[in-house]
Amino acid sequence: MSATLTQPNPTSAPWMPESWRSFPVKQIPTYPDAAALAAVEGRLSAYPPLVFAGEVRRLRQQLALAAQGKAFVLQGGPCAESFSEFKADIVRDTFRVLLQMAVVLTFGAKVPVVKMGRMAGQFAKPRSADMETINGVSLPSYRGDIINGPAFTPEERIPDPVRMETGYFQSAGIQNLLRAFSRGGYANLHQVHRWNLGFVERSPLAGRYRAMAERIGETLAFMQACGIDAASSAQVDETEFYTSHEALLLPYEQALTRVDSTSGEWYDCSAHFVWIGDRTRQPDGAHVEFLRGVRNPIGIKVGPTTSVDDIRRLTEILNPTNEAGRITLISRMGADKIEQFLPPIMRAVKETGRSVTWLSDPMHGNTISTQQKMKTRSFDAIVAELKGFFAVCAAEGVPAGGVHLEMTGQNVTECVGGAHKLTEDDLADRYETFCDPRLNAEQSLELAFLIAQELTG
Ligand code: PEP
Ligand code: MN
Repeated sequence: MSATLTQPNPTSAPWMPESWRSFPVKQIPTYPDAAALAAVEGRLSAYPPLVFAGEVRRLRQQLALAAQGKAFVLQGGPCAESFSEFKADIVRDTFRVLLQMAVVLTFGAKVPVVKMGRMAGQFAKPRSADMETINGVSLPSYRGDIINGPAFTPEERIPDPVRMETGYFQSAGIQNLLRAFSRGGYANLHQVHRWNLGFVERSPLAGRYRAMAERIGETLAFMQACGIDAASSAQVDETEFYTSHEALLLPYEQALTRVDSTSGEWYDCSAHFVWIGDRTRQPDGAHVEFLRGVRNPIGIKVGPTTSVDDIRRLTEILNPTNEAGRITLISRMGADKIEQFLPPIMRAVKETGRSVTWLSDPMHGNTISTQQKMKTRSFDAIVAELKGFFAVCAAEGVPAGGVHLEMTGQNVTECVGGAHKLTEDDLADRYETFCDPRLNAEQSLELAFLIAQELTG
């Protein structure tokens, strides 16, 4: 969207949680019942926050370390969470694979890992087309469970504000479970063997993981025998796990935005980290205006159509004081484009002298359609984009800060390739995603071993 002179200047006008409403907005539905929408917004504004400002500040510090190459961010989860998958097993399995991957990265690459789920609120989806046509029938596109329903019926596709309230309560339930898993003993490093359950145990990678888990166990036992306290400290017994989602549905994000009583600053308390997608990052648009005023760390997707000028403006608008950890740029170029499109942007950001954390999203630039019209991604293309990212970072002298993945702990068949060499013919077996194709648990773990190798050079 191009700038129009009639719009307020986003860098100078006063900010309020609702100031985005006078900016051009994309991807937000028009609710047919304005009174019902206002009633839900009113209730959400009075509900407890899902995260706390102190936690968000801590994450910001850790992202600042990743910007300097002193930590590595592992952000992962499904493309879209679904109301029908509000189940402990599904949350636990994704959490468990993320823990396994983090251990592979920490132990293999000797770098602290910042763990962040695309979970507990990843419900709203941007769409390339407003309408979907099947057999000559056109209906509004599905925009994620927090907006409308996936079934191809006129009723399901009507945006319903009550879905925001369901999204809030499900996010609260999942956040609670994640806190319990992180702090309640499940994530204790002494349990590292036990995370290797389920179908991954039968995979070719299991032996490699088991060997590593054994070495970790021995190291902890050795430390304990030496009387080193670290073997039973919070670092070993617990983990920190952060939540994140795309800040797409601004009425919801606004309703969850609160003043922090200790600092007097605004925080979007729907998640620790929120990002702006490739379709809503216009510097003069509503999403940028909203995120300008909240103090959470902010992600910005950077694709092949992102201009150097846009990125300069965005980092200025969203981080005028150049605070470390505030901006994470998430490159999602495509394996065949990254070496061409990323260097000029990385160089331009470096020239501004502004601190940013660079992540690679090797998923969104590598989506393809099979002959049967199924969306998939090839494991090889994902690896190629990651390798391209590490190569560009090294050439530009910029630390590779982490990865952003679409993945699940379930044994799905959505991406082709990997150790089990899934083919297009296998996709129909367990194709369960509500949106984009995800790496399954085994493919995710395999990727973690490859990333650890890249990090150690
Ligand atoms: C996503 O992360 O699911 C997404 C839609 O990404 P992008 O905005 O980069 O296309
Ligand atoms: Mn996606």
